[in-house]
Amino acid sequence: MALGHSSQSIFTLLKKYDIKVLRDKAKVERKSNKKLVARLKKMKPKEVDLLVHPLHDEAFEKIDCLECANCCSNISPIITDRDIERLAKYFRIKPADFVEKYLHLDHENDYVFNNTPCPFLGEDNYCSVYDLRPKACAEYPHTDRVKFQQILDLSHKNTSVCPAVVDVFENLKIELGM
Ligand code: SF4
Ligand code: SF4
Repeated sequence: MALGHSSQSIFTLLKKYDIKVLRDKAKVERKSNKKLVARLKKMKPKEVDLLVHPLHDEAFEKIDCLECANCCSNISPIITDRDIERLAKYFRIKPADFVEKYLHLDHENDYVFNNTPCPFLGEDNYCSVYDLRPKACAEYPHTDRVKFQQILDLSHKNTSVCPAVVDVFENLKIELGM
């Protein structure tokens, strides 16, 4: 489906990395985003990926994560056992000690960081464990994943955190004539 879209997102006119602006905008766009999600859920998964993946690339041509760091500052990734083992090895401590120092179980029984911002986020917005970072960090905001359709509700939530997801959602609405 190629209905054409504007490369100049309305969102670029806003302070695109400001978390408060993002949260306010997510509230304003709640209805239209819900409508978009409902429309995308009715499409074939492959069709959704073909539409979304180029918009992911386009968003990250405009957005610099080092100027943003909203994800690392405001939400925690899920930390898997493999992440724990890898990071514990790097710090030369036991996995149990890594858990004790940095993690707790959330309401879905997944390990997450104790606090935000993430303990490994530097003041310059660099990640001090970048090459070893949790899988969920490497994959965030997931707008390039196969079967993106499966995470539409999560992505809707991410419009209040990640300017790239906002950009993708806005351009999807334009592409779909919404
Ligand atoms: S581990 Fe690195 S990429 Fe992941 S939340 Fe922390 S600072 Fe961000
Ligand atoms: S992934 Fe999104 S929220 Fe995280 S730093 Fe990049 S643009 Fe910001």
